[in-house]
Amino acid sequence: MLSTKIEGISWIITLDRDRRIIRDGTIIIEDGKISGIGVSDEFRSAKADIVINGKGKLVAPGFVDCHAHLSYGHSMRGLISDTTPHPEYLRRVFRFQSSMKPEEEYHTTLLAITELLKNGCTSLLEPGLVNDVNSVVKAVTATGIRAVIGRSFADMENSIGMHQTETGEAIRQTRQILTSYGRNRKRVRAWIMPFSPDCCSDEFLRSAAELAERHDAAITTHCSRRRESAGLQITRLGSAGALGERMLLAHPIFADDRELELIASTHTRAVFCPSSSTKSSGPGAAGVVPKMLNRGITVGLGSDSASSSCHLDMIRSMHLLSMLSTDVRQGSPAPPPDRVLEMGTVFGARALRMENEVGSLSTGKSADLLIFNTVTPQWTALFNPVSSLINSSDGRSIERVMIAGETVVENGHVTAIDESELCTKVQEIGESVAGRLGISPQGMWPED
Ligand SMILES: [Zn+2]
Repeated sequence: MLSTKIEGISWIITLDRDRRIIRDGTIIIEDGKISGIGVSDEFRSAKADIVINGKGKLVAPGFVDCHAHLSYGHSMRGLISDTTPHPEYLRRVFRFQSSMKPEEEYHTTLLAITELLKNGCTSLLEPGLVNDVNSVVKAVTATGIRAVIGRSFADMENSIGMHQTETGEAIRQTRQILTSYGRNRKRVRAWIMPFSPDCCSDEFLRSAAELAERHDAAITTHCSRRRESAGLQITRLGSAGALGERMLLAHPIFADDRELELIASTHTRAVFCPSSSTKSSGPGAAGVVPKMLNRGITVGLGSDSASSSCHLDMIRSMHLLSMLSTDVRQGSPAPPPDRVLEMGTVFGARALRMENEVGSLSTGKSADLLIFNTVTPQWTALFNPVSSLINSSDGRSIERVMIAGETVVENGHVTAIDESELCTKVQEIGESVAGRLGISPQGMWPED
């Protein structure tokens, strides 16, 4: 593999152990890993096959999205009104999602990853609302992004319209996915995904914990997203022995104080999705974040789906969290921008059990990095790069994205994808699925 030298970088936000911010820095990449990083003077004589001029650029670690539904959101974006109440909203989502064919899931996933990559996400977790896991893996592989994949199962009757699978069959299929896409794959790894404690039996939850240990994998589940689940769902996960370092709780907004202590004491991880949580869980949703961080809980961020969050841009998600937190506290932001950036990078990497590979820029880590052009109105004047990144920029200022030293976005475009062709295809898919199901968009003004 060709070596790369990015030299004379105006700013490097490393997120390394010392949280160094380097002025006039250089990064050397060999065999997909960072072999050198520091001030440019240290690397004047270093040679490389590819040399990139870093003047006027800011380099940061690739973002880690801990909850990004890929396979259906872009095909149904805007199709269900934002005002549809829970659980009817979810029933409509599941009806659309469950009727998608493998080829439709493949193209929709490809477009979701395209949006994520352009906005700087280099690692993600896909939470498993998919019919054909192979289609998702095929799209992940085609783009080069790092992904945790799996398939969500519910083995109990439920009010949200999630398909019910017999317990033994859910375990059998999960085991098969773990075996097919286990930890030895290059950029794809499989996790166990019971959809929610509300619709999964104790037997399934216990088996999930056992499978996670046996396959050196982990579990993610949706929980405590509604006020009525406070004190119930996370407590139940604890009773089933499913909490711990191998559990990532998706949007546990209404965890009560006792459950927060349980999460902290078991070293369970959590992911907060600022945009979709604000939309669907009501005011004050972000209030749980400082409570978790204060207890030392690892909290990553997620952009959820194109149908619930409406965008897959981690910078917009980080900015929203920063603003919401300021609003909740009615004053100084808690968490502040530097902590929010940690959530989108190093904390996310820890939540996905990838902290030894990605999430920060230091020698030996994978060269998953973003190059921003700072000679733009968004970034000027530039004195505090962390604040400017979170509060002033967005994904459009990302010029280049590298994963394991390979350029996957160049001049703002995903190198492996014909974007306009793909967008046309996904529009057709959305219209086709909506047509099959007899769904029309709601909530617009009358046409006449
Ligand atoms: Zn989800």
